[in-house]
Amino acid sequence: MAGIYFHIPFCKQACHYCNFHFSTSLRYKEDMVAAMLQELDWRKGYLGTKRVDSIYFGGGTPSLLNEAELMAFLSAVEQHFEVSPDAEITLEANPDDLSAERLAALARSPVNRLSIGIQSFAEEDLRFFNRAHNAREAERCLDLAHSAGFEDLTVDLIYGAPSTSDAQWADNLRKVFAYRIPHLSCYALTVEPQTALGHFVKNGKVPPVEEEHAARQFELLLEATQAAGYEQYEISNFALPGRYARHNSSYWKGEPYLGIGPSAHSFRPGSRQWNIAHNAKYLRIMQCPPEEREALYEREELQPADQYNEYVMTGLRTKWGVSLARIREIGSSYEAHFLREAQSYLAREQLLQKEETYYLAPSARFLADGIAAGLFW
Ligand code: SF4
Repeated sequence: MAGIYFHIPFCKQACHYCNFHFSTSLRYKEDMVAAMLQELDWRKGYLGTKRVDSIYFGGGTPSLLNEAELMAFLSAVEQHFEVSPDAEITLEANPDDLSAERLAALARSPVNRLSIGIQSFAEEDLRFFNRAHNAREAERCLDLAHSAGFEDLTVDLIYGAPSTSDAQWADNLRKVFAYRIPHLSCYALTVEPQTALGHFVKNGKVPPVEEEHAARQFELLLEATQAAGYEQYEISNFALPGRYARHNSSYWKGEPYLGIGPSAHSFRPGSRQWNIAHNAKYLRIMQCPPEEREALYEREELQPADQYNEYVMTGLRTKWGVSLARIREIGSSYEAHFLREAQSYLAREQLLQKEETYYLAPSARFLADGIAAGLFW
């Protein structure tokens, strides 16, 4: 199994908290699509003979692609790869792009899953985030998506913002539950220093994000999703029975994926690489003959210590946990290290053990990254 990721590096406006790579100028969108198709052709051997089981359009804002552009990507994938007949094909979309006409056109396309960037149903939050949509559009797009026949939906929500009261957070969750959205990704608001939000916090224009506030809303999230029948299968991801995201799950399970477009990451056992995060430079490099494109990406060969750290980091975040058998494959010294370092977390009941597998206790999930760092090589 393998996945293909397309990074569409354009957005209508910059959300204040956003740290992804994108440009708000759409001037070079057509050139970008052509260059990305060229990159796909050039790198078609990256996945070997692996069958493609998931295709994901992320960004940026992939819902800015028109139908012809979307179809050009999907036809090229069909042409260059063996694709599973039931492949999961996800498009990230923003509510303001999802009109009834647009959704009808998407429903006719091979896209079979929409990931909608709702973030909140409250006007105050959406203004705080500087989202391009309003609260009415947030609800309306879910009605329209259902009417267009999209069953497989996932919604992104943000908690922990100073603008989000506990009551508003509970209301956001009630709304997605009422729509029976089968999959949710819920992220704590993080303040990255180089974002607009980072500057506002530094200048005192907005209050800082309080960890206690976010931790309380995380607790609320766990209780509410559990009561509504969702399973937390990764720290930030919740699914109704059997509705895990295939694309994301394959990342966490170490399956190979090919990333196309500026800033896109690719992975295959033993190495990972990431494309240059600059639209103009990406376009310039893609105009060069293939043998002169080495500046397109950086590559890192994964040493055993990197493989161990990455496995512990991702494994602890998921319901599948960390298996000692897998660590042993990386090396017996890593097994001994893990067992030694795990003792204090086991004693504090932050880590739980079932035979040879280790999981985070529900009460320790908010601390996942810190605990993983404590177990690193
Ligand atoms: S739409 Fe998404 S990628 Fe674009 S600025 Fe907002 S959060 Fe970032």
